[in-house]
Amino acid sequence: MLAGGQSLVPMLHMRLVRPVALVDIHRAADLDFIEFTPEGESVRIGAAVRHADLLRHPVLGARLPVLREAVAHVAHPAIRNRGTAVGSVCHADPAAEMPAVLALLDGEVEVLGAAGLYTVPADAFFLTYFTTVLPPEDVAVALRLPLPAPGTGQAFMEVARREGDFALVGAAACLRLDADGRVAEARLAFCGVGDTPVRAREVEAQLAGTVPSAAAWREAGAAAAAHLEPESDAHASAAYRREVAAYLAARVLEAAHRRAEGAFGADGRGGAAG
Ligand SMILES: Cc1cc2nc3c(=O)[nH]c(=O)nc-3n(C[C@H](O)[C@H](O)[C@H](O)COP(=O)(O)OP(=O)(O)OC[C@H]3O[C@@H](n4cnc5c(N)ncnc54)[C@H](O)[C@@H]3O)c2cc1C
Repeated sequence: MLAGGQSLVPMLHMRLVRPVALVDIHRAADLDFIEFTPEGESVRIGAAVRHADLLRHPVLGARLPVLREAVAHVAHPAIRNRGTAVGSVCHADPAAEMPAVLALLDGEVEVLGAAGLYTVPADAFFLTYFTTVLPPEDVAVALRLPLPAPGTGQAFMEVARREGDFALVGAAACLRLDADGRVAEARLAFCGVGDTPVRAREVEAQLAGTVPSAAAWREAGAAAAAHLEPESDAHASAAYRREVAAYLAARVLEAAHRRAEGAFGADGRGGAAG
């Protein structure tokens, strides 16, 4: 499948893949949509939608701030103008931002196979480096990303060697507060620290019901990082990645909390915030 070609064409060039046939979907008009579901609980992003389309969309950034923040870190404008969000998820680079956002939100991939449409949840989609459950003949037609409930704050941050490079480590958080200001639900995900995007589910469960504080975010970051098993490579050692993961996790939780407080507002009515 050829979408934006920003990952596939380099792989073809280096003879890392030698497909017998390629289907070019990048101009498929019926895959070029960003639509909110009628109930307003999620957004569907079609397979021809470019990274740049997500950044340009008039309301998507406000409705799903973590997506906007993550996509702004994807490569450079020229690549964002061609590469697609669905292509990034299908390519399954564990250092990429979009797979981590899909994992954070418990999103889904809508797929068209010979037997018809089916849906794969994020936690079942990624198998290992650059490998998903998708059979080669099936096409991912859209991502479905849940929108945040009222009283939720979100944040994405990463550390890369240079602006636009793949993340050495990235972290994303989603935090929903209850009416007393306690953590009703916490979500934390990483990219660049394993063979797939990683959710810190144990830490998420520990944070539920707690009183937010700077110390709580630091402890959560350290606990999440302790569970990670990043690899060392030419760009960074495993120890460095773990340390950065702890730091970024604390920062995204803190930022998400600040935004959730803002979302709640003085009257306590709630509403999603950036
Ligand atoms: C210099 C450079 C820097 C980059 N930096 C980053 C970065 O910082 N962060 C980041 O996330 N990405 C980065 N990228 C990758 C870029 O974001 C790609 O666009 C993206 O990973 C793949 O999207 P694409 O549409 O170009 O997919 P393609 O290259 O067309 O396809 C990639 C793979 O996905 C499969 N595929 C694509 N669409 C579908 C579909 N609908 N159904 C089934 N399979 C499909 C293809 O068969 C192929 O195996 C970078 C790329 C370059 C060249």
